[in-house]
Amino acid sequence: MFTPYLGIDLGTTNILVYLKGKGIVFDEPSVVAKNLKKNKVIAIGKEALDMVGRTPINIATSRPMQNGVISEYSTTKQMLLYLINKICGNSLFKPTLVVAVPSRITQVEKRAVRNCALESGVKEIYIIEEPWAAAVGSNIAINEPGGNMVVDIGGGTTDIAVISLNGIVISNSIRVGGNTFDELIKNYVKKAHNLLIGDPMAEQIKIQIGSAYNSDKDLSMEVKGRDLIEGNPKTITLKSSEIRDVLNDPLLKICQKIREILEQTPPDLCGDIIERGILLTGGSSQLRGLDKLIFEHANVPVHLAEDPLKCVALGCGKALNMLDKIKENYIQVTN
Ligand code: ADP
Ligand code: MG
Repeated sequence: MFTPYLGIDLGTTNILVYLKGKGIVFDEPSVVAKNLKKNKVIAIGKEALDMVGRTPINIATSRPMQNGVISEYSTTKQMLLYLINKICGNSLFKPTLVVAVPSRITQVEKRAVRNCALESGVKEIYIIEEPWAAAVGSNIAINEPGGNMVVDIGGGTTDIAVISLNGIVISNSIRVGGNTFDELIKNYVKKAHNLLIGDPMAEQIKIQIGSAYNSDKDLSMEVKGRDLIEGNPKTITLKSSEIRDVLNDPLLKICQKIREILEQTPPDLCGDIIERGILLTGGSSQLRGLDKLIFEHANVPVHLAEDPLKCVALGCGKALNMLDKIKENYIQVTN
C-alpha cells in the first residue's frame, strides 16, 4: 500500500480525477444527489444526473460548483470524500491532491477549496491554476520564457490567461460558456417555433448542428418537443444557420474579451502569442467553427487542444510528478 496521488479538475460542469499510475479514472458531470434526512451523499456524477427532476422529496440533486468556485461548501466536502473513497477504496494512507482552480478566483475562494479538501481527510493539497494545468496537459513547453495564451471555454465561464515562465501574467474571465449557449437555444426554439424543449435537447442541438462561423456548412436536425400552444408533441427541423444567429452575441463577447487581454499583454509576450497562437481548451471550445471565428477577430493563429475536455485533468496528473517544482516556483502551496 502507498499514498494515492490524485489530480482533480473540479469543473462546474464536469469533474475529472487523475490517479497517478493509472490515468483518468473518473470523468463525470459535477452533480451530487443527497439524502436530506440523513444529510448524506448517495450518488455523484452520471448516476446523480439521472436523478435530476426525478427525485422523491427526501433526495435533492445539485451542482456544488458554480462559475468555477465552491458554492455549496458542505456538499463539495462530502462529494470529495465520496470521490476519494470511491477511487482509493479502503487505503490506509491519506491521498495527496493537486486541484486546478480558475486563475482569477480570490484567496478566500482558494482557501475554501483547500479547507474543504483537508476536512475530507486529505494529507496535503496543492492548488494550481487551470490555464497552467491546461497548457501542461496539452504538452505546451510553458517553462521556457515566452508567452502563451490559453482560452478555456467551459460550461459556465470563459477563462482567458497569458502564461509565461510557469506563471500567470494576466488573466480574466467572463460568465459566458456552454450553458449560455444552451439557454439561448432553448429560448429561441420556444419563441421562434413555439416549441418547449429541455436542457439536454438544447445541448444536443448545439453539439449536433451548432456553429460559430458563417461559411460553415448548413446542417439540419429534427427536434422533438412540446407545442407551446396545443400542448401536444411536435417535431420541427432546425438549421445551423438559425443557431449561428442565436449564438452570435455571446460568441462576440468571447472574441472581444480575447482582444482586450491581447491589448493589455506586454508587447514581447504578445509577439510570442502571435507566433505560437492561442490554445483553445474546455468542452465548449469544440463548438464548430469557433477557432475560425476567434482567428478572424484576434488575428492570431488558434489551436484547439487535442483533448479539450481532459487537458486540465491531464495537466493535474503531470503536476503530480513535479510537486517539488510546484512547491518551489509555482503559484501556490497550501500546506
Ligand atoms: P467545466 O470546466 O465548466 O466543467 P467543460 O470543459 O467540461 O466545463 O465543458 C462543458 C461544456 O462543454 C458543456 O456546456 C457542454 O455542452 C460543452 N460541450 C461538450 N462537447 C461539445 C461539443 N462537441 N460542441 C460544443 N460544446 C460542447
Ligand atoms: Mg473546466
